Amino acid sequence: MYLGLSGGIGCGKSTVAKMFGDLGAIVIDADAIAKEVLEPGQVGYESVIHAFGESVLDSSGQIDRKKLAEIVFQDQSQLAKLEAIVHPAVIARVAEIRESLPETAVVIYDTPLLVEKQLQNQFDQVLIVVSDASVRKERLLARGLESSDIEARIANQATDDQRADVAHFVIVNNGTLQELRENVTKVWQQISA
Ligand code: ATP
Repeated sequence: MYLGLSGGIGCGKSTVAKMFGDLGAIVIDADAIAKEVLEPGQVGYESVIHAFGESVLDSSGQIDRKKLAEIVFQDQSQLAKLEAIVHPAVIARVAEIRESLPETAVVIYDTPLLVEKQLQNQFDQVLIVVSDASVRKERLLARGLESSDIEARIANQATDDQRADVAHFVIVNNGTLQELRENVTKVWQQISA
């Protein structure tokens, strides 16, 4: 079974993913894979250097993601160029991981942009984590993000209603971690039944 997991910034996606992992799911972290494919020796590394030049490397020869982000966030065509490298590489890597797993595995693909990128049809079911904006803001402030930055990021993402439209399960995360674990366990019991 292949499940997509998403939610807005600070809603608790990673926390939920970890809880599903504790229950026996295999979690694939889309952001981690996107980083991995740009590591030296990986398929995206040479392509990025070819497309953006060696100035995107740091002193140890790794791709400096901050430098890359600065380039692509100011320029849609550069972003498209980067995405054309990263996306196919991520898709190939995820396919490779999935092929290595037994068919009975419950695989959860954790991706922040599931709704924005309209990926819902790739999955058997979609799990969405929601959390009130005030709660998310509090969590993100605690993590050191600036208030204006948090608001800008939230405004840039899909809304919870848009996410709920594609969801088979909505996991509400406004309470304690214990309550969240109970919610996650209930969903797990249904998906793994
Ligand atoms: P991002 O989109 O930024 O990656 P996320 O949706 O993956 O965020 P998490 O990293 O899981 O969110 O959670 C954000 C922060 O809030 C973390 O520090 C996490 O420990 C904390 N958190 C999440 N849920 C709860 C909860 N129910 N009670 C207390 N803290 C929580």
